[in-house]
Amino acid sequence: MTSQATQTRPKQRLLTPGPTAVPPEVLQEMAQPIIHHRTKQFQGIFEQLCGQLQKILRTDGPVLSIAGSGTTAFEAAQVSLVKPSSKVLTIAAGKFGERWQEIYDAYAPYLDLTHIKLNHDWGTGAPVDQIEQTLKDNPEISIVTIVQSETSTATASDVKRIAEVVSKTDALLLVDGITAVGALPVEQDAWGIDVLVTGSQKAMMLPPGLGYVGLGERALKRLEAVKPGPYYNLDLRKWYKSWKSNDVPFTPPVSLIRGQKVACEMILNEGLENVQQRTRKFAEATRAAYEAMGLKLISKSPSDSVSGAFYPEGVDDSAFRKALRENHNVHIAGGQDGEGAKWKGKIFRISHMGYVDKDDTLTTLGAIETELRNAGGIDVAPGTAEAAFNKTHG
Ligand SMILES: *Cc1c(COP(=O)(O)O)cnc(C)c1O
Repeated sequence: MTSQATQTRPKQRLLTPGPTAVPPEVLQEMAQPIIHHRTKQFQGIFEQLCGQLQKILRTDGPVLSIAGSGTTAFEAAQVSLVKPSSKVLTIAAGKFGERWQEIYDAYAPYLDLTHIKLNHDWGTGAPVDQIEQTLKDNPEISIVTIVQSETSTATASDVKRIAEVVSKTDALLLVDGITAVGALPVEQDAWGIDVLVTGSQKAMMLPPGLGYVGLGERALKRLEAVKPGPYYNLDLRKWYKSWKSNDVPFTPPVSLIRGQKVACEMILNEGLENVQQRTRKFAEATRAAYEAMGLKLISKSPSDSVSGAFYPEGVDDSAFRKALRENHNVHIAGGQDGEGAKWKGKIFRISHMGYVDKDDTLTTLGAIETELRNAGGIDVAPGTAEAAFNKTHG
């Protein structure tokens, strides 16, 4: 294995939409000696982190920190809060929306669920009117799931309006905010989001390994009212009970929790709104650069946390991304296949979340332009992407 120190290009640029680059301050904090978690010292750190997470999710309610990835946290919310023998409404137009559907499909026989799937076209925002109508037609719906920023399609949905619609019913709204929190505006309390989930390795600037679940008042009531089902570690009742005394039910990834506290400090010091504005400016300028290169955007309702474009005719995805890695030490993501579309090999995506600056983004766009040209996919003057980026970004 080659170590960083022996590489000729030591500066890796990790612009995949998860995992994202981790700031050196956070890496350093995570290298501290391990402390035991049943101690005052750990509880102090954990209490501070809980307060910071509330500020970032914009809620006064509990935000649980769950060991696992974002999927663990979302699955925990899905199973802990659903009413047995009820209906669930899942909205999907991409890989992650489809994952939440697979999870309810897996549990449906054990929880006696009727599953209503509302699938719309990949690259479009969720159809609010159709959600409203479906809720009217099916008053037994106990959960609605939505992805605010569908990372696989670089698409945003209007969660504020959807929360307005769902809050008029008895259903709880579960928002996958895994690439929204810390990147796009999202207000758990002000918008009336019952459950807001995020993960550590996207805009939260940490390695993978923690998922966060913000619980609103209606969600807390539901948690008390519903008896636990066929799950154990995923039971949010256990996590909430411990949370009340700044604790967790099982051995936590202490190093990650310490690291997250430092990363949250960085986000709050920069200011949540400033972070969102930086993210938006990178995204707008990147989309302008894609269009200047003659590329077609993958989304009609773009999310600002990730930008995707279709490959021009004749460019091979794996050869292209290999050239980016080997010639530029730039790492970006390709596409994924799902039920609603097959985008593997058809698209590429870059992240604007977290620890990424203008130079990282410009270097990446320059590398993309060079390698697309080398592959015969585009025929634009050198510097086209950079000029378009700068014109929009300022
Ligand atoms: C990354 C991601 C997930 C899955 O999170 P994991 O941490 O990989 O389990 C879910 N939803 C969205 C929108 C994501 O970007």
